[in-house]
Amino acid sequence: MDQSTRVKAPLLLLAYLAVVVLPLIISWSVGGPPRPFQQELASGLGMLAFSIILVEFVLSGRFKRVSNGIGMDVTMRFHQVMARAALIFALVHPFLYGATPSGGARPWDPTRQLTLTTDILYLSSGIAAFVLLPSVVLFAVFRKQLDWKYESWRLLHGLGVILVALLLLHHTLYAGRYGSQPIMTWVWLVMTGLAIASLFYVYLLMPFLKKANAWRVSSVVQLSPRQWELTIAPDDGAGLAYSAGQFAWINVGHSPFSLHENPFSISSAPASGDKVSFIIKELGDFTQTIGQIKPGTVVYLDGAYGSLSIDGHTEPGVAMIAGGVGIAPLLGILRQMRLSGDPRPVKIIYGNRSVDQIVHRDELDAEDAHYVLSEPPENWEGAKGLITPALLDDVFSETEIKEWVFVICGPAKMMDVVEDHLISRGAPSRRILTERFDYD
Ligand SMILES: Cc1cc2nc3c(=O)[nH]c(=O)nc-3n(C[C@H](O)[C@H](O)[C@H](O)COP(=O)(O)OP(=O)(O)OC[C@H]3O[C@@H](n4cnc5c(N)ncnc54)[C@H](O)[C@@H]3O)c2cc1C
Repeated sequence: MDQSTRVKAPLLLLAYLAVVVLPLIISWSVGGPPRPFQQELASGLGMLAFSIILVEFVLSGRFKRVSNGIGMDVTMRFHQVMARAALIFALVHPFLYGATPSGGARPWDPTRQLTLTTDILYLSSGIAAFVLLPSVVLFAVFRKQLDWKYESWRLLHGLGVILVALLLLHHTLYAGRYGSQPIMTWVWLVMTGLAIASLFYVYLLMPFLKKANAWRVSSVVQLSPRQWELTIAPDDGAGLAYSAGQFAWINVGHSPFSLHENPFSISSAPASGDKVSFIIKELGDFTQTIGQIKPGTVVYLDGAYGSLSIDGHTEPGVAMIAGGVGIAPLLGILRQMRLSGDPRPVKIIYGNRSVDQIVHRDELDAEDAHYVLSEPPENWEGAKGLITPALLDDVFSETEIKEWVFVICGPAKMMDVVEDHLISRGAPSRRILTERFDYD
C-alpha cells in the first residue's frame, strides 16, 4: 500500500477531536458576560453538533488518508455513530436554555450574550434544521427498509446534508451567542466552506480528472451461476497503484460525473500487470447487468481504498477466511503472494451454499484450502454447514491462531463469529484484518 496515504488511527482520532472542539475552544476563549452553566452547556452542545456534522463530510469514505488508515468499515461506522451523537446534541440544546430572557434585539446586548433571540428570521433556519437533521439521519438509518435506489438515496443524502449545513451556518451566525463574534463568524464560514468543498472535490473535480484516465472492459467471464469476473485495462492513462486486497469504486458505461458507481474488491494482484479484475456477485440494479457488459465499454475507476492488506505483516503464515464473494480480495492477496514469491504457508477456509459457487478452485486447490458448504451434494466429503468456531479450531492450531495474520471477508454474521472466536482464543486484533461489504 502507498504508505503516504496511511495515517494511523490514534493520529486521526487526535486530529478529529481537535477539529471538532476547535469552535468550542475559540468561543470560550473569546469570552463574554458570565452565564449560568446550563446555558453554556446549551451553546456548547449546539456548536459541537454543528462541527461534528461538518466533519461528517470528510468521513464519507472517499478520502484515502482517512479510510485507508483505519479501514472503510471503521470509517463508515464512525460516520454513523457520530451522526447520531450530533443529532442528540442538536435536539437537546435548545431545551437547555431554560428561563433565559428572550425577545427581539436589545441594544445593550448586541452579541446576544444574555438574551435569547425570538426574531423569527434568525430562528427559522434553526427550526428548519431541527426538523431536517432528524429526517436526514432517519433516512440513512432506514435506507434499506425504504427500498430506494442506492444512487437516488445518495443524491438526496448529499443534498440534505448540504442544506442542513447551510441552515446551521445561518442559525449559528445569527441566533448563536458566539457566532456573531468576528473570529467565530470566520471559523464557521471556513469550516462550512471546507465541508461543502469536499463534496465538490469528490463529485466534480475528481470525476473531471478521471476523464483523462478512462479504463475499458477487456473481459466479462461467468464464474458461477451468479458470479462474474470483470477485467478492465487502462485506456491511455496510468494504471492503478494498489495493494492486494484493496477495493475500488467503478463506474461502468456512465459519464464520469454519474452517481452510478459501486465499490468492489480487486481480485487481481498488482504484480500481475496493469489489468485489474473484480469478482462480482449479482445482487441488485447494477450487478444483475454484469453479464450484458460488452468488452470495450468505458469504465471510470476511483481507488484504491481500504486497509485489507498484508503489506508490512511479517507473521509466519497467512490464514484466509471467506464467505461467498468475500473470496475476491483474498484471491488478490493470495495471487500477489504467489507472484512475488512469498514463501509463507497459506490456509484457506471458504464457505458457500453450494458447490457450483466455489470460484477459481484450481488456484485454491494448490493451497491448503478447506471448503464448507451449507447445502452440500450427497457425495460431499468436505465440511458441511457454516463456518463455526469448531471448524476454525479443526483447521488452525493454537500456535497458528496466536501467531498468524488472519484475513477475513464475507457475510457480516460469519465475520462476527470468526472474529469473536479468534479473539477469544488469543489472536491479537491487530492481526485480524477484515473488509465488510455492507456497513449497515
Ligand atoms: C468495500 C466493499 C467492497 C465490495 N466488494 C465486493 C466484491 O468484491 N464483489 C461483490 O460482488 N460485491 C462487493 N461489494 C458489494 C457491492 O458493492 C454491492 O453488492 C453492489 O454495489 C450492489 O449494487 P447493485 O446496484 O447491484 O445493487 P442495489 O440494488 O443498488 O443495492 C443493493 C445493496 O448494495 C449496496 N450498494 C449498492 N450500491 C452501492 C454503492 N454505490 N456503494 C456502496 N454500497 C452500495 C447497498 O447496501 C444496497 O442496499 C463490496 C462492497 C463494499 C462496501
